[in-house]
Amino acid sequence: MPGKTLGSGTYAIVKEAVHIKTGKYFACKVINKKLMEGREYMVRNEIAVLKKVSQGHRNIVTLHDYFEVRSSALHPCARHGNLLMQTAHNLYLVFDLCTGGELFDRIFRRLTPTTISDAAELVRTVLQAVVWIHDNHIVHRDLKPENLLFRSKKEDADIMIADFEICGTPGYMAPEIFLKSGHGKPVDVWAMGVITYFLLCGYTPFDRDTQQLEMEAILKGDYKFEPEEYWMNVSGVARDFVKQCLTVDPLKRPTAHQMLQHKWLSDDKPHFVEDR
Ligand code: ADP
Ligand code: MG
Repeated sequence: MPGKTLGSGTYAIVKEAVHIKTGKYFACKVINKKLMEGREYMVRNEIAVLKKVSQGHRNIVTLHDYFEVRSSALHPCARHGNLLMQTAHNLYLVFDLCTGGELFDRIFRRLTPTTISDAAELVRTVLQAVVWIHDNHIVHRDLKPENLLFRSKKEDADIMIADFEICGTPGYMAPEIFLKSGHGKPVDVWAMGVITYFLLCGYTPFDRDTQQLEMEAILKGDYKFEPEEYWMNVSGVARDFVKQCLTVDPLKRPTAHQMLQHKWLSDDKPHFVEDR
């Protein structure tokens, strides 16, 4: 199948696609409906949510179109004129193409924090978008660096929230998800704590040898700002931001709106890596 693969997950492959009439590039999320059998509501949910948030906020990816084909024959996608071949089992979601890659890769390639000029700035931008989502009565539920994409390759490119759906990723999941006691807005604040921790030191707070141990650590809120060599340049106020987000009890966890007022984000001069 022609077209560069941009990424893939459990149910979907995301491919680069060209609109033939305009030559414009898009990202096309190809969802395998066979794999989704019995869980189609998840896709419907993603579409419904995307319709609601699309074009509403500068830091949320825009859904342009979506379509599916019911016949079993293979034929080129006429409606969008792109290079993909459609089959009966696929559903296509067409998004603005983000060419700057995932935040995950920038962290992983250690492009941060030295070349992402300001971690607090980045966290503030994402958190502002989360506040906006929450104000619209939507919970993302799967915030993580793989779902935060840069609009372009530029160092100061806009960061975009992608992938609105219902399943989560263990390392970023809040205690109440495991306890099945709640899936509300506080889960996104928890995830912001994990993302910020990751951004500050380059590894995640609850990484353990097995998923069972990871889950136990999350339930106890068992993490440390260690090893010291990775944290010595991170100020107390930045650590406090992480600590507040990682409040185990969702009822006691501050809201996204409250976290936006945190000193680390509201100060003119963010307290981050002072001399690196
Ligand atoms: P999944 O539900 O399978 O996690 P995502 O929507 O997160 O699917 O997409 C998987 C990956 O594809 C992302 O992590 C990202 O690397 C890439 N991707 C998704 N949307 C876009 C986009 N609009 N532009 C560029 N790459 C994208
Ligand atoms: Mg994803």
